[in-house]
Formats: sequence, C-alpha cells, structure tokens
Amino acid sequence: MREYVYADNAATTKMDKNAYDAMAPYLLEEYGNASQPYAFAREPKKAITDARAVIAECIGALPEEIFFTSGGTESDNWVVKSSAFADQRKRLTITSAFEHHAILRSCAAIERLGYPVAYMQPSVEGYITPEILGRHITDDARLISVMYANNEIGSIQPVRELCKAAHAYGVLFHTDAVQAVGHLKINVHDIGVDFLSASAHKFNGPKGIGFLFIRKGVELPSYVDGGRQEKAHRAGTENVAAIVGMAAALKANCEMLEENQRYILNLERRLMARLDETGIVCRRNGGSNVLPGLLGLSFPGQDGEAILHRMDLMGICISTGSACNGEETSTSHVLRSIMLDENLAKGTVRISLGKYNTEVDVERIVQGLKRICC
Ligand code: PLP
Repeated sequence: MREYVYADNAATTKMDKNAYDAMAPYLLEEYGNASQPYAFAREPKKAITDARAVIAECIGALPEEIFFTSGGTESDNWVVKSSAFADQRKRLTITSAFEHHAILRSCAAIERLGYPVAYMQPSVEGYITPEILGRHITDDARLISVMYANNEIGSIQPVRELCKAAHAYGVLFHTDAVQAVGHLKINVHDIGVDFLSASAHKFNGPKGIGFLFIRKGVELPSYVDGGRQEKAHRAGTENVAAIVGMAAALKANCEMLEENQRYILNLERRLMARLDETGIVCRRNGGSNVLPGLLGLSFPGQDGEAILHRMDLMGICISTGSACNGEETSTSHVLRSIMLDENLAKGTVRISLGKYNTEVDVERIVQGLKRICC
C-alpha cells in the first residue's frame, strides 16, 4: 500500500490495535444474540454490560445513562427529532448555524413538520457565548443544541455556561461532542448536559457505532422502534463487537488523554512554525480555544479544493469543509457563519492531526504546501 500521510483525523481515525483485537472474539466465537435467554448469549451480554460501564466511567456518567446508536448522526437525529415531538407546549429548538449537518438537517426536518427552530450565529472567532444564547432563549424552548467543538475550525464551546443558562429557563441542553469525546476531558455531570452525542470512529474506534448519553430522569422518546433493546429506547440487535471495540478505544484514549494532547499539540506547533519558516502565509481559524491538532487554515489567494487535490497527488490526505460532506463544493456553512472573508474562505483547508501522526508527516505536509503555495 502507498505510504499516505493521513491528516484527516477529524473525518475518521485509524483504529486502535487493541480495540480491534478486542472485537474479533465477538465476530468469530461469541457471536450469539445478546438478547437471547440461553447460555450462549451470556458472554456477549456481559461484554455489552462491561462496555457500557467503561464508556460511562470515561465521561463521568452512570452506565444506565449510555444508549448505543449507530454513530453521531443517529444520536443527533434522535435528540433533535424525539425531543421536538415530546412536548407540544414547548416546541422551539435552539441551535447554532455552524452545527454539523446531522443537527442542521434534523432541525430542517422538524421545521418542515411545523416545529420552530432558531439558529444562533457564532462570533467571528467561532463561539456561541452565553450572551449570544441569552438573545435567543425563551421559556417556550424545549431543547438547546450546541456542539462541544466545531468540526471544521475546532473552536471549543463554553458548554458548561451555555448549559447553565439553558437550565435557568427550564430548557434541556444537548451537545454534539463527536469531535471532543476521547480527545478532551469530559465529565457530563460536571458540565450538566442532559444529552451528549459521540461516535467511536472519531476516537480510534470502529465505524458505525456511537452512543447517546441521556441524563437519568430525563425522558427522551425512542427514535428507532422495534425490539426491546437498550431498555426499549433504541431497537435493533446489538452490534456487540463494535460496542466492545468502542469501549476499548475510548478507554485507551482517555487513559492517555494528556500525553496524546501534549504529543498532538507539539506536532501542531511544529507545523505552524515550519509553515512560518518556509514563508507560507496562512491564517488559522477558530480563535484561541481550539481542539488540539484540528487546524482550519486559510491560504490567501489559494483555492482550498485545488490544495486538497494537489496534496492528494502527493499522497497527503487533508480536507476542505466538513468531513462528511466531501461532495459539496460551495463555501462551507461554518466559514460563512463566522463571516470569513470570501477569498479566505475559498482558500481554506482542514488539517487534522491525530495520535498516529509523526514529525515526518508534518514535514511532508509542509513540503507539500510549499510546492503549492510558494
Ligand atoms: N457531528 C459532528 C460534529 C461530526 O464531526 C460528525 C462527523 O464528522 C458527525 C456528527 C457525524 O458522526 P458519524 O460519522 O458518527 O455519523
């Protein structure tokens, strides 16, 4: 296989080898349906129970507050749609204009059914502040959904403060933490959120599995109807191997959280310093509190699409716009929401470094950009 430099870790990540190894027995040997009453189902059932406890501990939750889903998109759809339909007296949903499409298109779907949605514009640095929320919040709101960290520019939102403001109005608070879980220290009970979405493939786990945290005592109608799995809240035969892999990956990342952050921050600093030394002019978007390794970079006078394709020819994977949105070529809604100058927006790419990147990767990225921009 060609030696790629993979610098698109915000889109997806390489699996942790131990997590991968932990999955194999549940595909090949312990493949029983965990919901069956016979002895052969005991091991998979126990594996799910153990995984739930591990995941809960990693985010400071109780095991019964973790509900397995197929990933971030499903968790987001579940919260937005089910909460809208739950209480006909409180019909308003409040979100931000720079959420992932999993939130924005779920909101568009409930709007088509007559449920109002208010979209908050972030500051030009890329933050929804409590003051911005204060201008939109009313007590007929049912749900406020603001992402933990933005997937294009990395800005980490003041979720604890936003959550406090929501609760002062008796409004439930959800955060799409798909980019943050496994990368930032998160304790759901400290922050106070009612719902939190996460996705395993963003933290070196398998694809097609994630979870939704639902605070104990908060009612959220089920979104996927069918069997009685997940306490009748999310039907479908459990993907035991993926659940086990997700728990192992999250545990590994959380145990090494600070070391990983330090390592990735060092790579990031090196990248920025080398770009500077090489005379490559660029601007980093996202303000001062951003996810380690997630760099939304704007190159004046350049074309982000062209940079992506030329880097691809050199075996370097980066992205423009949103990770899951590779087919769209118009200026990203995130860059528009922070009112980035059109010319800068056009020349923007996202480089996202992860725990498996090296200094050699960083140098190849710099040399690639030098060939394009200088
Ligand atoms: N939310 C955010 C912030 C994301 O970055 C993504 C994926 O890029 C998703 C949701 C969707 O997650 P999944 O790929 O698990 O459906």
